[in-house]
Amino acid sequence: MAQNFVLNVSDVNKNFGGLQALTNINLQVEEGKTHAVIGPNGAGKSTLLNTVIGRLVPDTGSVLFDGVTLTGKSPHQINQMGVARVFQTPEIFLDLTLLQNVEIAALAKRDGAFSFKPFRAMVSETAIREEAAQMLQDMGLHHLRDQMTGNLSRGDKRRLEIAMCLIQHPRLLLLDEPTAGMARHDTNRTIDLLKRIKEQGMTKVIIEHDMHVVFSLADWISVLAQGAIIAEGTPEEIKGNPKVQEAYLGG
Ligand code: ADP
Ligand code: MG
Repeated sequence: MAQNFVLNVSDVNKNFGGLQALTNINLQVEEGKTHAVIGPNGAGKSTLLNTVIGRLVPDTGSVLFDGVTLTGKSPHQINQMGVARVFQTPEIFLDLTLLQNVEIAALAKRDGAFSFKPFRAMVSETAIREEAAQMLQDMGLHHLRDQMTGNLSRGDKRRLEIAMCLIQHPRLLLLDEPTAGMARHDTNRTIDLLKRIKEQGMTKVIIEHDMHVVFSLADWISVLAQGAIIAEGTPEEIKGNPKVQEAYLGG
């Protein structure tokens, strides 16, 4: 019997004006697992993630989430279905506080009103405020809750963004280089945080450059090079795979 994957990417192709960014991509993500996608710069990792979250439409192929096709759905619809994502560049409201940012994320999931209602007026519901405050506490960001996010360090911004995802209780969390540009200390805190999320059973796809992060977290690794998956396997299998080393050293 076919296994029920949370995410099932089949034969996805994406071309940008002659550049074949993705070639026949197949990727299956099991419930509760952390699936890493690694590969050199320009390999197509972010493009792949964007085809899952609806920012890009694949030229051919299909993306299924819990057996339901995502192709043709908007990023917002996909988010409402239970897919949350952390982008390569943090997307937070810099002139609002941490607490307000987390509240907006919670309301966006519940009401689907991310870009339309005046944010400040929305941010007033006690239950949501309490949950948002608790989430910041869990992230070690509680002491900063009433500060404007514009002043945060890169690591704190990234953790805030993860908090904004978690408050949505997603079924699938996608992270595009969550530790990019972080100091080692912040990277380690983020690894600990992602481990805790894993214990709660959340399914994750993580795009990551830092092999320390990948090998700390991943159950399964797909290796992308020049738009194609050149290897996949457990961290142990990938570590010893000569094709992977070649892609990194030669790429
Ligand atoms: P990665 O995330 O693995 O570094 P990307 O998915 O960002 O790689 O990019 C893969 C390739 O596709 C690169 O050659 C990049 O320049 C190209 N690319 C990405 N997005 C676009 C776009 N919107 N238009 C044209 N080319 C793009
Ligand atoms: Mg990228």
